[in-house]
Amino acid sequence: MQQYELVTENEDQTFALAKQIGEKLNGGEVIALEGDLGAGKTAFTKGLAKGLAVTRVVNSPTFTIIKEYQGRIPLYHMDVYRVSAEDEDLGFDEYFEGTGVTVVEWAHLIKEQLPDELLTIYIYRIGDTSRKFVLEAKGERYLQLCKEIC
Ligand code: ADP
Ligand code: MG
Repeated sequence: MQQYELVTENEDQTFALAKQIGEKLNGGEVIALEGDLGAGKTAFTKGLAKGLAVTRVVNSPTFTIIKEYQGRIPLYHMDVYRVSAEDEDLGFDEYFEGTGVTVVEWAHLIKEQLPDELLTIYIYRIGDTSRKFVLEAKGERYLQLCKEIC
């Protein structure tokens, strides 16, 4: 599996990077975001939403688990940090197989339910405001996307 690395020096650069990725999405993509609390998963999603021409303000869906936004294509923003075994079946499949773009924060917590092909982005805090992004593509369309970005 091929990995690509990028570094941003501040939140604005993260926003710009994510926006650039968002602009290249056509719908049906699944993006898994991994990283500690405060790494920048939600900050990244805000930029991605901008690239999808979402106009509403994107906030963390920690308590709601899933938030939907209308853009050029729909954005489904999930934060599965609080998903427990009991509500395991929240119908994630329908989002993953839908025409929108799905972003999942803490995706490994529902790894059994993730599609085979997806883009996983690991975010590491390497300084106060610097972050390392490691992109890992599973599937041709995601590999292509990584090549265009990096
Ligand atoms: P997560 O969703 O991973 O828990 P958030 O996106 O909510 O994290 O928070 C990231 C925090 O880190 C924000 O307070 C943001 O301002 C700050 N930050 C500082 N530098 C960066 C950067 N380069 N990229 C993203 N966020 C950054
Ligand atoms: Mg978050």
